[in-house]
Order: sequence, then structure tokens, then C-alpha cells
Amino acid sequence: ARLQDDFIAMVSHELKTPLGFIKGYTTTLLRKDTEWDRETQQDFLEIIDDEADRLSELIGNLLDSYRLKSGSAEFKLVPVPLASFFKNIFDRLSKKEVNLDIEIQVSPTDLAVMADAKQLSQVIENLISNASKYAPNSTVKIHASQKDDKLLITIADSGPGIPAVHLDHIFKQFYRVPERSAGVRGTGLGLYICKHIIEGHGGEIKIESELNKGTTFHILLEPADTAGKS
Ligand code: ADP
Repeated sequence: ARLQDDFIAMVSHELKTPLGFIKGYTTTLLRKDTEWDRETQQDFLEIIDDEADRLSELIGNLLDSYRLKSGSAEFKLVPVPLASFFKNIFDRLSKKEVNLDIEIQVSPTDLAVMADAKQLSQVIENLISNASKYAPNSTVKIHASQKDDKLLITIADSGPGIPAVHLDHIFKQFYRVPERSAGVRGTGLGLYICKHIIEGHGGEIKIESELNKGTTFHILLEPADTAGKS
């Protein structure tokens, strides 16, 4: 039960921090003995809004990781053509983020993977979102190709990279790299969730990173037979 205690301690700490901000700033705004000017009110409300987003993201992540860990997440694997799959992700993200620099290459173009499209897009979107958070201004290159009898997807940025000592821990729950994460919102659950989703597919995810060069994630999955083959 020690692991479970650690988990609960971490979770309550993570939940208490944003909740503490929300409560603190709300109480402050409600004080009857002080008049806050418009600008201060606005500042406080922005903090509350931000922390509420953080809390909701955290709860979403916790539920996802719980479902994945308990094995109650369902994976319905069907053939997913990768070219249109990546295009959908790209279109969806372009609506949200203004400065998205993504290069997608699927070769051969009719490659398809056995996947649960919704779960796999969560993985890809999370890796793209990490690249835009921790490697801003770098092009994100997504490549899909065949590797022996598997299908390989790589997602690479040319950002600051991650110091080698952290690489063995990066997929662990709540693990964040201090020198990369200062001032960047996150929970340290994203990569943990990615790993569980990929393993739920019977696949593998690996990280390769070099300081000042960038970070690449390698994902191996089962290919689907495409027309003309099999
Ligand atoms: P989160 O983004 O919520 O902190 P993740 O599990 O997605 O959590 O990532 C764990 C940590 O790995 C991040 O906090 C960050 O320090 C580091 N990281 C992830 N992706 C990258 C990247 N592309 N470049 C540099 N550091 C990264």
C-alpha cells in the first residue's frame, strides 16, 4: 500500500495547490472591508480562471490515468489510415493554436495502423502539445513509416532537449524535468498516460533526446493491412 499512499499524497498536494489559489483569491475579492479597483479584480479573476483550468486538466488526467492503470479503459483496435488521421489532428489543433509549425510525412501514403483512433490521437496531441510547450518555435516533425513488420511513428522537435539523467524517469507519474517545467503549466501525467495508451495497444513508446538538439518520441504499433497487400 506504500505506492498507493505516495499516490494519494501526491494527488492531494497537486489538487490542493490550485484549489488554494481559487479559494484564496475568491475570499479576498469577497472581503467587505476592502474595495479592489477594476484592474486588481481583473488580475485576481484571471488567476482564478487559470487555476480552475489547471484543476480541471488535472482531474481529467487523473481519471484517464486511473482508467488506464486499472485496466478499465477500452481499446477498440480498427484499421486507421494515418494520412487522414494526422490531418484531422492538425486541423483540430490549428483551430486552437495560432503558431503551430507541424510537418507530417506518411510514407507510403496509404499506411494504416491498428489503433483506437481516439486514444491514439490523445497520445499524438499530447506529444505535439509538449513540443509546443517545452520546445517553442521549433518545427514538429511527424513521420510514419514501416519498420520491419511494425509501424513506426516518430514525433520530433528541435528544442532544448532533456538532460540524460531524466530520461529513465520521464514516463513516470507526476515526473517533470525541473529545468524545463519552471513556469510551464503541466501535471507530469501526460507521458505516463501516453505510455499506458500505447502499451494498451500492445505497442511501445521510447524517448530519445539530446541537449540543444531536440527530443524525439518513437512509437511502434501493429500495422493494418492496406489495400493491395496482405
Ligand atoms: P507535463 O507536460 O504535464 O509536465 P508530461 O508527462 O507530458 O507532463 O511531460 C513530463 C516532463 O517532460 C515535462 O514536464 C517536461 O519537463 C519534459 N518534456 C516533455 N516533452 C518535452 C519536450 N518535447 N522537450 C523538452 N522537455 C519535455
